[in-house]
Amino acid sequence: MSDISLATGEAEPLTYPIGRIAEPTEVIEVGPGVLWVRLPIPFQLDHINVWLIEDHDGWYIVDTGVATDDAKAMWRKVLSTYLKDKPVKGVIVTHLHPDHVGLAGWLTRKWDVDLHMSRIDFLSCHTLVNDTGREAPKAARDFYRAAGFSERGIEAYAKRFGSFGERVSRLPDTYRRLREGDEMTINGNIWRIVVGSGHAPEHVCLYCPALKLLISGDQVLPRISSNVSVHPTDLNDNPLHDWIESCHRLRANLPADLLVLPAHNEPFYGLHTRLSSLIEGHEESLAKLHAYLDEPKRAIDVFPALFKRKIGPEVFFLATGESLAHLRCLIGRGLATVTRDDKGVDWYSRLG
Ligand SMILES: [Zn+2]
Repeated sequence: MSDISLATGEAEPLTYPIGRIAEPTEVIEVGPGVLWVRLPIPFQLDHINVWLIEDHDGWYIVDTGVATDDAKAMWRKVLSTYLKDKPVKGVIVTHLHPDHVGLAGWLTRKWDVDLHMSRIDFLSCHTLVNDTGREAPKAARDFYRAAGFSERGIEAYAKRFGSFGERVSRLPDTYRRLREGDEMTINGNIWRIVVGSGHAPEHVCLYCPALKLLISGDQVLPRISSNVSVHPTDLNDNPLHDWIESCHRLRANLPADLLVLPAHNEPFYGLHTRLSSLIEGHEESLAKLHAYLDEPKRAIDVFPALFKRKIGPEVFFLATGESLAHLRCLIGRGLATVTRDDKGVDWYSRLG
């Protein structure tokens, strides 16, 4: 999910055929045997869409919500009302973020079923959960100092370090790996795994050609530009390059006329339009950022080039991560360079 919208991702002619939003604990059928459930999440973005897919002998759950008592209560109600006396037979998670994976452990234990997930996201999720209760490492403090954070900002970061696991129920110790091109047959229909990257390292989407459906997770959202951020652990990461490349690949490999089932907002038509708009939005931001680097700037200095809204403390980390993603992308294209000063702060300048 994303809490801040870039200065991109404007509304374009997408259509929303369902025409309404599911009430709490209501399900809406969005295709034969495919149900939409909207769960509350305790974030600025207040909901996540999760999906139930009916097989002949049970149901698959796709994405799970955050580990809160509210979400558990909603699941109990939904699962006791709509499963037609069939069990849950598997839990599929699109990617590692807590609103998606949060109740995966709870649900898989409750039904004694497997978790299906990509390898990188499953293992990365374990790593992040293992940080819970740890003190922020020096490398992570240095990372935010390099981005331009004050000592007070670094302390605020250190305080929130390790909070990831608080919203995730204990993860299963094993999983079933999902890879690009894998196929699951559910109720006689093939669901093909399509992988994207940039928002999460190995984000799984599920494409059903027969039903013309795409469960897109956070890889394609209709009204929000997904957060694409650099994190302290991965020193060479260039997630915006991966994101833009994924958008191009999805547009080339998937038909335009799918009903897209996103993790946030509502189901929509207009996949190719949306992907093109996301690509163009980021390219425009990169061009603005390039122009903005007319003199050396820190990551926290470039917000005006990328965001329409004023960046307050509540989104400062996200905005910094996104700014770094754009700066790294410019460096990757040979359009910017970075120098570290004797205080450990990185200054970015344009090339070309
Ligand atoms: Zn996400």
